[in-house]
Formats: sequence, C-alpha cells, structure tokens
Amino acid sequence: MNKKITALLREQATKRFLEYVRIDTQSDPESKMSPSSEGQWVLGRILREELIELGLEDVELDAHCYVYATLPGRAGCVGPPITFCAHLDTSSSESGANVRPVIIRNYDGGDIRLPGSGKKHLTTAESRELLQFVGETLIFSDGRTLLGADDKAGIAEIMAALAAFKAFSELPHPELKIVFTPDEEIGAGTDFIQMNRVGKYGYTMDGGMMGEIEAECFDAWGMDLLFKGRNIHPGYAKDQMINAASIAARFVAALPEWETPEHTEGRAGFYHVTRIEGAENSAMVKLIIRDFDKSANQRRMDYLKNLAQLFERRYGGLEININAKDQYKNMNEVLHRHPEAVDKARRAIALADVAVRENPIRGGTDGARLCFMGVPTPNIFAGAMRVHSKTEWIPEVALEKASEVVVRLCALWCEV
Ligand SMILES: [Zn+2]
Repeated sequence: MNKKITALLREQATKRFLEYVRIDTQSDPESKMSPSSEGQWVLGRILREELIELGLEDVELDAHCYVYATLPGRAGCVGPPITFCAHLDTSSSESGANVRPVIIRNYDGGDIRLPGSGKKHLTTAESRELLQFVGETLIFSDGRTLLGADDKAGIAEIMAALAAFKAFSELPHPELKIVFTPDEEIGAGTDFIQMNRVGKYGYTMDGGMMGEIEAECFDAWGMDLLFKGRNIHPGYAKDQMINAASIAARFVAALPEWETPEHTEGRAGFYHVTRIEGAENSAMVKLIIRDFDKSANQRRMDYLKNLAQLFERRYGGLEININAKDQYKNMNEVLHRHPEAVDKARRAIALADVAVRENPIRGGTDGARLCFMGVPTPNIFAGAMRVHSKTEWIPEVALEKASEVVVRLCALWCEV
C-alpha cells in the first residue's frame, strides 16, 4: 500500500483516537436507561457530524444511541454490503472520566512510569507485549483512569479507513454499513440494533493485540439464584430459623474452586460469582458460567440444579429459585459455515504485514450476537492491551495497521 495512504491512516486514526478518549463514555450496569450513560450521547453526536463530513449517507444517531451510516460501494465493486462495528462505551470497572493520554515516543524497552499511579511502575514482566514495541510510539492513560482504547481505538480505526476512502478514490470497497453500538460492555450492545442497517457480513474492531482475529468466543450464561429462608428473633430461633444468607455462603463454597476465572485459561471454562447479597429472609447469588463447549456449560447448570435440590433437602423449608439467562453463544457455530468471512480477515492482516494470531476469545462481542442474528461477524484486533485497567495501552502502529486491515478487507471483498 502506498506510503501516502498509510501515513494518512496513522495520522487520522491517532488524531481521532486522542479526541474520542477524552469523552467519558463509561457504561453503568445499574442504570435502567438506554444508553446507560450520558457521555455515550456526546460521542454519538460527534461521530454523526464526522461521518457526515466524511461524505457518508443516511447518517443516523437513533433513539437508543446507535450510530449508523452508509458508504455506497465504489463503481465496479460488486461485493456484498459489509459492516464495520465498534462500541461507544468503556468498561464500568474503571473510571473513564478526564482521561489524560500520555504519549511515549521511541519506547526504550524499560518499565513504564505513569504520572498518576504514584510509585508503581508498569513493568515489562507484567506486560510482556511491551517488548515487541521497542522504538514505537505508545499511548497510555496517566494511570488514574482507563485509557478507553477498548473500544475507541476500534471507532478511530474505522473512521480513519473512511477518511482514506474519501481521500483516495482508487481504493475499492463494497457498500459499507457502519454501526457504532452503545453499552457493549454491559452486554446490551445489540439489544436495539436495527438489522436493516447492517450488511451481509460484519467485522467488529474490538479485539486485543495487533494481528489478532477471533472467530470463537464463550458460550455464556447468567445465573441468578434466589435463596428464600425464614427469619425469627435469634434468641428463639432454634429449629425455626432458616438463614438464607449463611446458607447462600455455604452454597457458593460448594462450587468447584478450580473452575473459576482466577484458576483457568486457554479453553477451560468456569463458574464466576459476581454478586452475593442477602439477610436471613432471602439472599441472592449472581454468577456467570462460561465455556467454549456448550455441553460443559450444560453440565455446570445441572450441577447448580442438583446442588440446589440437595440444599433444599438438607434445610427443610428452604427454597432456591434458579433463573438462567442465555447471554451469548459461541460464534464459531456460525462462522465455520461461512469460512470466507474469516479467510478474508486473515488475508487482510497478512497483507498489512502483520503476523496473524488466532485465539478463542475468553469473552464475547457484539459480533457473537450478530452471528446468531444472521450476519457472520468475526472480531479483528483494535490493538489495545490490558484493557479495562488503569494500565491499558496501545501502540500507535496498531491503530495504523488495524485501519489498514479495514481498507484491505474492503478490497478483498471486491474481488470477484
Ligand atoms: Zn470492547
């Protein structure tokens, strides 16, 4: 790809990225609103204006804060309409307010000191990937907040590619259907998506390390367990009280400790308790179960049911209600039937001169939902590391390469 194009991609992706991270779009899992936070509207409105400036058509910021836009295909490209998707919000686990990006040029391979993190340095032992970017420009937050590259990098990369299509009329592309979604981090990214504004295939720009492509994700369930006990004055409680709170604690203690996020990696699944609350009368345990193999999750659900029955027998009068919610499914189920979507992504990454890394994602994406809504949608790297943390970082070269992958993918979809 000619140097003028890659220079523009780098300049555009970096400039836009630094602009977007300054807007606080942290989502709020406790909110009843859609979207869950005001800041997502602010970013949505900026993107609407920028998409119009870039010459896109049918630009819309809808009532649920989804941003849509269409770029008509270049004459001569007969490929199907393609969606590029990224999310507006940042993780609820760390503050996204007043993000102050710190830019380190010509990285020397040493530990990183961030001004807002006191004496604590980010060491190369903690973030070994740093050593692959010696000599590059790296972008961090100042250590007080997350950076928000998940997923503002993805948005910036898509926008940079659109800027390149505007500037270089020789770059081929099919019709592009751009979608930016709110509240992905709290699992609601596709809840109100307008499917008639999505292409035939899609790509989320929401993966990690440069070169990554993800075509497989967890099969995911949320489990709410409600323990109903019986309260009575503790002085007169013998053979009367059924203490839901203490029974819930015993129940959690009976889950296999080695099947938890902190003890698993690779393809191993887990139970993960996310919340416990309660008193004598009633207690609630919220957990999630995850696995690449859905039959393993079925086994976990059976285990929870059997354990609940055992506890009801052990504590006469106790009631345990289990509510299971299907959160998302392993997108591989869909993508293996449409190998062309992943094949082209692999080729585009290799053409951008980046080593392809294929990993199953220990999480989910908007793409997983889109796959089961009929749009095969693998996930491509946005380039950020240590996301959802105060030591999140991204190399500038990843911003450039991810946007180049978007441009190259578009050309591949124009091949007959
Ligand atoms: Zn993300």
